[in-house]
Parts: sequence; C-alpha cells; structure tokens
Amino acid sequence: MKTIQTDVAIVGAGSAGLSAAYQAATAGADVLVIDENRLPGGQLFKQIHKFFGSREHQAGTRGYRIGQELLSRVEKSGARVWLNTLVYGMEKDCSLGVIHNGEHYVVRAKKVIVAAGAKENYMAFPGSTLPGVMGAGAAQTMINVNRVLPGERILMLGSGNVGLIVSYQLMQAGAEVVALVEGAPRIGGYGVHAGKIRRAGVPIYTSHTIKRVLGTNAVEGVEIVEVGPGFVPIPGTEKKFDVDTVCLAVGLNPMTELIWMAGCAFCFLPAFGGHVPLHDSNMETTVSGLYVAGDVTGVEEASSAMEEGNLAGVAAAESLGLLSPEQAAEKKAEITARLNTLRSGMFGERRRTAKEQQLNSMKHYRAKEAE
Ligand SMILES: Cc1cc2nc3c(=O)[nH]c(=O)nc-3n(C[C@H](O)[C@H](O)[C@H](O)COP(=O)(O)OP(=O)(O)OC[C@H]3O[C@@H](n4cnc5c(N)ncnc54)[C@H](O)[C@@H]3O)c2cc1C
Repeated sequence: MKTIQTDVAIVGAGSAGLSAAYQAATAGADVLVIDENRLPGGQLFKQIHKFFGSREHQAGTRGYRIGQELLSRVEKSGARVWLNTLVYGMEKDCSLGVIHNGEHYVVRAKKVIVAAGAKENYMAFPGSTLPGVMGAGAAQTMINVNRVLPGERILMLGSGNVGLIVSYQLMQAGAEVVALVEGAPRIGGYGVHAGKIRRAGVPIYTSHTIKRVLGTNAVEGVEIVEVGPGFVPIPGTEKKFDVDTVCLAVGLNPMTELIWMAGCAFCFLPAFGGHVPLHDSNMETTVSGLYVAGDVTGVEEASSAMEEGNLAGVAAAESLGLLSPEQAAEKKAEITARLNTLRSGMFGERRRTAKEQQLNSMKHYRAKEAE
C-alpha cells in the first residue's frame, strides 16, 4: 500500500470536480483529481445537445464542447488527473482509499472536495430485472460514449429533461422510440424538448405507468396502464407495445456514500433528489476541510455544478493560504452572483428555495455546535 500526499484531492472529474481543480491549481495548490471512468468530464461528454441559459453559461454550446474546454483549462493548470481510479472509501480524517493501476493507495490531502455526481433512480415492476430494462443515463452512455445502440425498439418511462433528451438522442442514433410514458398528468421537462419528440411522431402517454415488462430471458414487450388519482391503475386501460428495450428516466439521487462515511451531517430535500450533505456558503461540510460541489450536493444542472466547483476550489485555496481573504472574497462574490442567476426565474425557483434550506440547516447545525 502506497501513501500519496497532496494539498487538494478531488473525487470526480465531472463539471464540478474539473472546475474546482482549475480554481485550486491556478491558485498554486498541488491538486489530484480522481475519477473511476476512463474519460474525464462526467456527464458532460454524453451531452451532444445544446445547453440553455445565459451566454456566460455557454447557452447554445453542446455539452461535450463545454467539457473539452474545461478539460483543456485543467490540463494547463497543472492539476493531476487519475482516471480508471476508484475511491472506495473515506475515513473520518478524510483520507481516501483508492485503487489506481491495480494498486491500493491511501491519499492524504489537506483539503478534500467530493464532486461525485448523482446516480439514476430505479423502479420495480414485474419484469424490471430483465436484460433490456435500463436507466436512460445508461442508454445515453451506450450511444454517445460507447457508440452502441442498446436496442432497436424502445419505450421510455419519464418525461423530465433526461427522458426527453435521451429519447431524441436514441432516435438520432437510429433506434425507434415507440412511446414515451409519464405517470404525472403533465410532461415534466422543457416544452422545446417535448416538441422535438412529438414532431418526430412519438406518442406521449401522460397519466400512465408501466404495468409489466414481458419476456423470459430478455425484454420482448411492455404493457402500460393509465393511472387515476392516487396513482391507482385503471383496469381495462392496458396497452401493449412490441419493444426490446425499456428505459427508465425517473430521477437522479446524489451519490453521497463517501460523505456519509466521513461523518457529515445531512438533510432531506426532495427537490434535490433525497439526502444531501449540509454545507456552508464556501461549500464546506460539517467535517472541517471536506468540501462538496455539483450534483452530490443536490441534483441541479451542469452550469450550477461548475459554479459550485469554482466556489469549492477557491474556498479550499483560500483556507490553504494560497489566496488572500480579499482575493477570495472577490472571486466568491462573482461566482455566487452567477449561481444566484442560475437559480432565479421560473425554472430556478424550486432549486433556489432548496439551496436556501440547505444553507440554513448548516447555520442551525453550527449554532447548535457552538452552544
Ligand atoms: C441524461 C442527462 C442529461 C442532462 N442534460 C443536461 C443539460 O441539458 N443541461 C445541463 O445543464 N445539465 C444536464 N444534465 C445534468 C448535468 O449533467 C449534471 O448536473 C452535471 O454534469 C453534474 O456534474 P457533477 O460534476 O456534479 O457530476 P458528474 O458529471 O456526474 O461527475 C461525477 C464524476 O464523479 C465520478 N465518481 C463518482 N464516484 C466516484 C468514486 N467513488 N471514485 C471515482 N470517481 C467517482 C464519476 O465517474 C463521474 O465522472 C443532464 C444529466 C443527465 C443524466
């Protein structure tokens, strides 16, 4: 077993982790970024569609191009990136257990930033364990990263942005999306994404869910059913589809396992996908020297993940004495202003309220601790 010392260790080379790495390394910190994937960029390299939002958040640019830009800045910053490397555990003193090149390392860092992202929710129904039932994000990885079509005839469950975007990308990749099914009475994602699906002729069944998937050793079909008030199936409304793949886009939840191991305090925020770590305005958790950023703090979107990463990187560099309080305050004010813009307006309101609750919970926690 080898031991590695560094100033800042970052778990996750997605939007948040790479942004944090750039900030900390350009301030002069020795930075090690670790990711279990063979490619850096996290979710960004799967996103071949153009982003929304403001010009300063690269609206109109495709996700993978944002990833390429971010990565080239990180490469020039001097930060080290270990890929194909798993962080399997974290001790209470924040040392990390890591498998790199088949060898076991302990990484001891003065500051640790966890930017591990989120994972897909799953749903149980008869046939849900058959090969061919998969998360929509997994299907997106297959087509956009590995260039493999998961199936030829696909039914998508869930009409949030992930369900809508991945349906469209599956069609671009050559699959037929036979239907999009949504349990709620209304489509959850942006109208512009739903419009593309509709124009392509995909029927959208709102107030419907999957009753069962048919097949013995693999998916051979799917039966859906209409649901009434209280999500109760309405007998006699069943419809069958001949499909070989069923994709589930039923939400994401933060990948918080390492943060639990370190002993951080959490709160439960449904708007953020479940249990999320308490953190302050510097992204520091209840464990001193342990920071969080991106979807792991609550599922939002890539631009917020990048800004939270920027904030965590600047705060970690400041606490190492690499940025003066004045320099750090100026940077943090700019980043926070951009984050507030992202969490404003019709679509940002819910996330802004959740983030305020999370920050307030942290204030209460620290006040209690000080008593
Ligand atoms: C299908 C889909 C479509 C989306 N579309 C959009 C969109 O149009 N616009 C938008 O703004 N956002 C979109 N998002 C959301 C956006 O991708 C995320 O909010 C953002 O990428 C989160 O960044 P992150 O750095 O927090 O996490 P990620 O990008 O998920 O990065 C986390 C990284 O951590 C690594 N990791 C985790 N645990 C470990 C471990 N133990 N050891 C080593 N490595 C580890 C993972 O391998 C991963 O690379 C979409 C998300 C999905 C799933």
